[in-house]
Amino acid sequence: MKNIIKTSSRGNLIVISGPSGAGKDTIVNELLKENENIWLSISATSRKPRSGEIDGIHYFFLTKEEFEERIKDNDFLEYASYNDNYYGTPKSDIVEKLNNGIDVVLVIEIQGALKVKELIPEAVFIFIMPPSMSELRRRLVDRKTEDKEKILKRFKTAYKEINEITKYNYVVINDQVKDAVDKVKAILLSEKCRVDRIEEVYLDNEEEEIHELLVDKNLENKDISF
Ligand code: 5GP
Repeated sequence: MKNIIKTSSRGNLIVISGPSGAGKDTIVNELLKENENIWLSISATSRKPRSGEIDGIHYFFLTKEEFEERIKDNDFLEYASYNDNYYGTPKSDIVEKLNNGIDVVLVIEIQGALKVKELIPEAVFIFIMPPSMSELRRRLVDRKTEDKEKILKRFKTAYKEINEITKYNYVVINDQVKDAVDKVKAILLSEKCRVDRIEEVYLDNEEEEIHELLVDKNLENKDISF
């Protein structure tokens, strides 16, 4: 059977943002478990590791000086300063993965996401939203990874971030993780069906196709009119 169209085999670049505590990492981890065709970019940061965080798995942990050296070397696709620490997406690997048909996920904050939008406007921008601010507060307090002052800072930042939501293509409210994951999967699937991914159309000569259809023995006794 001949295909009518050829669509791009390139992977999509997917940018996921949302306030601290919205559940971005949980959603992305679920996606990665179910789909081998997705690769999560590991960021570099100058923030100190939290307990349980491993260098090279959760982040590449660098000193402030090392991070600034990497900025000078133009190693980052984007970087931003967030709550007094640097965070950045290493450039290496991303292009190779996309060319190999693998979707690349960046879980980054808004300033970085907007830089990616300038560079790669066709990327897919998804904002993960908590169901309410009181729920966000509860999640930030319950995870016990930050002291009171840092929680307050992250909570204030969340208000600013939510104001930028219209810069994204999609918003997913993370009330139940499974529902949120299903929504993100649906977005990724729809993005694969965009007409701008069509690279070629192979339509045969229309008259020949119709002629072949008319002389098809199986259709001889059927009444077909165009
Ligand atoms: P956390 O300290 O909670 O791990 O991350 C703080 C914020 O930095 C989160 O919103 C996270 O998504 C964001 N972030 C993580 N990696 C990067 C990155 O490479 N670039 C940017 N711009 N933000 C990042």
